[in-house]
Amino acid sequence: MKQVSFGHDHQNFWKTLKEEVNLYFKNTNQEKTGNGVLYFKTGLFLAGFVATYLVLMMVKMPVVPSLLMCGLLGFFGASIGFNIMHDACHGAYSKKKWVNEIVGLSMNLIGSNAFLWKQKHNVIHHTYTNIDGVDDDIQKSPLLRHCKTQPWKPAHKFQHVYMFFLYGVSSIFWAFVTDAQKYFSDKIGSHKRWNMPIHEHFIFWISKLYYVIVFCAIPIWIHGFWIWLAGYFAMNFIFGTWLSVVFQLAHVVEITEFEKSEQNETLKIDDWAVHQIRTTADFAPNNKVISFLVGGLNFQVVHHLFPHVSHVHYPAIQKIVAETCNKFGIEYHCNPTMIGALASHVRTMKTLGSRE
Ligand SMILES: [Zn+2]
Repeated sequence: MKQVSFGHDHQNFWKTLKEEVNLYFKNTNQEKTGNGVLYFKTGLFLAGFVATYLVLMMVKMPVVPSLLMCGLLGFFGASIGFNIMHDACHGAYSKKKWVNEIVGLSMNLIGSNAFLWKQKHNVIHHTYTNIDGVDDDIQKSPLLRHCKTQPWKPAHKFQHVYMFFLYGVSSIFWAFVTDAQKYFSDKIGSHKRWNMPIHEHFIFWISKLYYVIVFCAIPIWIHGFWIWLAGYFAMNFIFGTWLSVVFQLAHVVEITEFEKSEQNETLKIDDWAVHQIRTTADFAPNNKVISFLVGGLNFQVVHHLFPHVSHVHYPAIQKIVAETCNKFGIEYHCNPTMIGALASHVRTMKTLGSRE
C-alpha cells in the first residue's frame, strides 16, 4: 500500500476548533446526531421514492411524463443517499449504533452496498482526501483526469463535456460493476478490503437480488424491455449526475488542492485537519434549498472535519469553522453559489483536459 503520514503542525487550530464546536452543542443543548428535521427528511425522501416507484409500476402514462417520473425517482434515490444514508454510514444519524446500521442499509435500497461504501468513503476518501493514488473518489474512470498528476490522454480534451454522461451512468456501474469488483477482488482501490462477516455476504447478495428484481425484472415484466431501458437510463441519469456533481463540487474545483502518493515512498502531510480544509470546498452556504436537498454536502469542509456530526447542524458549524480559520490564518474555501461552483468544476476539468 502507498504510505501517507500526517503531522500535527496546526494542533492549536484543531484543538480550538473542536472546543468551539463542542461549546456550540453545549450552549444550544443539542446532540451532535440527527434531530426532528432529519427524521422529517427521512420520511419525506423515502416516501417520495416508494410512491414514485409505485406510480410508475401501476399507472400507464405517456412517454414524456413517465420519463420525467423516472427522473424524479432518481432524484429521490440521490436524496436518500445525501440525506439519510450518508449520515447513517458515518454514525451521525443516531446515538444508537444499531439505528445507524439499519438506516445505513438505505445505501443497499438505492443499489449499492453500505459495508463496502463505509471503507471506501469513511476511511479511504475521508482520510486521504484528494491524494492521487489513494483517494478512490478522484479515480472514477481512466476517461476522467481529476488532477495534474494523473496521466493525460487525448480524449481528456473533451472531458468537461462527456463527464456529465459518465456521471449519469455512474450509478449503473455501482450497482453492477464496481461493487462486484470490490467484492470479488478483495480490494478497494489500492487498499485491502475489510474482511466481510458472513452476514455481510448474505446482505450483499440479498440486496443485489432485490435491486435486480425491483429495478429490472418487475418493470420489464410490466412495461416491456425497451420502455424499461429508457426509464432505467432516465432514472440513473438524474441519480448519478446529481450525486456525482454534488460530490465533485466539494473537491474538484479551482480552489481545492491535490497531493500525489508515489509507490514505495511516504507522503508527509503536515496536518490532517488543515489537509481536509485545503482539499475541500463548501458551496452555496446561504442557500437553504440547496442545503436541504443535498444533505448538507454543500458544507463538505465541515463534514470532512466533523463527519460524526449530523448534516442538520452544518450551517451553524460552518460559521464557527470559517471564523476559526480566519483567526488562525488558514484559508477556508467556499464558492458562494452552486452555479459558480459548477462553472469552476467545468473550468477545472477543461484545464486538466488540455495538455499540460
Ligand atoms: Zn462523508
